[in-house]
Amino acid sequence: MDDPVLDKLCELQEAELEVRRLEDSLSAQDRAARVRGEQIAKHKEHIEALRARHRQVRMSADKKELEVRQKRAEIEKLRQQQTLVRDNRQFAALQNEIRFAELAISKYEDEILTDLGDLDAVDADTKKAHDDLKRQEEELAAVRREIEARKGDLVRRIADGRARRQAIAHALPDKVVDLFNRIAERLDGEALAPVIRDEEDEDDGGYVCGGCHMGVTQNTYVLLAGGAGAAQSREKDILHTCPNCTRILYLKKT
Ligand SMILES: [Zn+2]
Repeated sequence: MDDPVLDKLCELQEAELEVRRLEDSLSAQDRAARVRGEQIAKHKEHIEALRARHRQVRMSADKKELEVRQKRAEIEKLRQQQTLVRDNRQFAALQNEIRFAELAISKYEDEILTDLGDLDAVDADTKKAHDDLKRQEEELAAVRREIEARKGDLVRRIADGRARRQAIAHALPDKVVDLFNRIAERLDGEALAPVIRDEEDEDDGGYVCGGCHMGVTQNTYVLLAGGAGAAQSREKDILHTCPNCTRILYLKKT
């Protein structure tokens, strides 16, 4: 094959794919930093929830401690009353009240112990979450530094790649570039496909589109190979496209 338009188009595709690869790499890096940032935000929410839990348990324990103090004061008062009564029945009734208050105190004290155990667990979780956060933040900072270091180089290479793509496009007829761009837009930059041997059908010697593996007619193959009528069709700037995926077909140089 000696077709300057197709040769140029192959170069254009190479430049197009290189620019896309670099752009993808740039946005993948930004995405990586963003994902880590989101993880950190979620982690901070988790720490906030642990702190809220700590406050809640602390408040509940404080309330019970206050109840215990009140009950103790109550018992103190009941004991004083006992010293004043002469009647056994009244004394016994007060004694009963004291016992109830003591039972209440004992129940509160058990609950306070449970609360303090919960507080220890929450505080241990909080400490671990803080350590994790610190590690994640350090990792994010490292990722950001790495991205910043690479970004300048990537941005420069993207600009170079775009300039190269434009220079190649300038050497091609506008309508060819338009066709290329339309297909490239749709197929992730792959506007061209080589015609390749159909490996599933070796005996037949058939050819298929390297993009979608749809059969290519003998006539198209002959025209691309520079057979009869090829020169004529070339003069008309006819490009052969795959009827299935619409990619511009070319023959790989051997
Ligand atoms: Zn195809």
